[in-house]
Order: sequence, then C-alpha cells, then structure tokens
Amino acid sequence: MISIFLGAPGTGKGTQAKRFVQSRGWPQLSTGDMFREAIKNETPVGKEAKHYLDNGELVPDEVTVGIVRDRVKRDDCQNGFILDGFPRTIAQAEALKILLTDMNRSLDSVVLFEVPDEQIVKRLSGRRVCQSCGAVFHVEFSPSKKEGVCDACGSQLIQRKDDQVDVIAKRLEVYKKQTSPLIDFYKKEGLLRIVDASKSADAVYEEVSKVLQS
Ligand code: AMP
Repeated sequence: MISIFLGAPGTGKGTQAKRFVQSRGWPQLSTGDMFREAIKNETPVGKEAKHYLDNGELVPDEVTVGIVRDRVKRDDCQNGFILDGFPRTIAQAEALKILLTDMNRSLDSVVLFEVPDEQIVKRLSGRRVCQSCGAVFHVEFSPSKKEGVCDACGSQLIQRKDDQVDVIAKRLEVYKKQTSPLIDFYKKEGLLRIVDASKSADAVYEEVSKVLQS
C-alpha cells in the first residue's frame, strides 16, 4: 500500500500517518520530519534546508526528491508506506512517478485532508512540540498536564518557528500556489480521495481507514 497524505499544513496528516504506523506498520515518510532531523544534526541537507523551513517556503525540488529517493529504498518500505507532506509541487509528483515506476511499484491512493483555513491557523498556532521526544500537544485542544513540560519525557515544550502566525500565513499561501495544483493532478489520475479532516482525530482515522480499503 503506497498512499500520499495531501493537504495544507495543520490538517492532521502527520497525526493520522502516525496512527497507521502503529496500526498497520506502514512507515510514515514525512519530508518535514526528515528536514527537521537533518537541521538538528547539522547535515549538509539540513544546512541547506534551514532557511526555507524557518520562512515557511519550500525546499528546492532536487533536494527534496533526493531525500525521498534514498528513503523509499530502505527495507521497511517493502510492504508500503505513507508519504506525508510529499509531493508538494507538480515537479515532485512527476519525479515520484518515475521513482515508483523504476521500483516497479505504483501509487494506490492520494488522501486529501480538508480543513477550513481559520481552523488550521488555530491548530498550528496553539501547537507545542517536545524538543526531546517529538510528542505533540496543543495549548487548548490537548494541553500537557504541566504548562510547557512534556507529559511523556518531562522535557521542555516549544513552539516551532514555522507555527508562528506570520509564518503560518506564508505556509498557507505556498500551499495554495504550489501544492494545491496536485489536487487536479491526482484527480485526473483517478487516485484522489477526499476526507473531512475538520472532525475529531478518531473520526478522521475511521474515514481514512475506509478510504484506504476502498
Ligand atoms: P511540514 O512539517 O510537512 O509542514 O514541513 C515543514 C517544512 O519543511 C515546509 O514548510 C517546507 O519548508 C519543508 N518541506 C517539507 N516537505 C517538503 C516538500 N515536499 N517540498 C519542499 N519543502 C518541504
């Protein structure tokens, strides 16, 4: 099973992908996570990507396709995987097609997560993440027991730089301009499945599960 989780930032793609890692064992290939890891480890890719992430812009296609190409070849991708946050441009989608064809594989579905913009801003601006274990909280919807402290490991919670209101606006603009053309691209390929991702995480999980089985 190879599926793309497509949608604006803050629509819950990553949260849902993590649930499928647990329930089905399909790895979550999140390019955003890969870039954040590379930045933390100060690798050459991380050094190149940092400026783009901080400003809510897209990392150039060659760099992004390069990290996905390396990742899908790993053993844990044999039984399928979920692409979370990739592709984000038509050029990346074309590159993915070639990559999968070379591997004798094909896409099964593209799940589009739909959430109104106002809700996205609320979700992202209230998000807090643990610097140490990556656990995710929300100041209003799922607060940690002690403010600013991770329930799971006791480390400090931070707000991602790109979750600040001005950068969120930029990310939404980038999504509309560069990523939303993928909706038509995959509609034409007959792969697009739309999910109302404004519902609760459990309800969205049910809906995505049904879509992936259909
Ligand atoms: P995310 O965690 O998916 O919201 O991604 C965070 C940031 O990583 C984005 O705002 C981009 O700067 C970068 N990024 C993630 N995925 C891609 C991609 N497919 N193409 C280009 N840049 C990406």
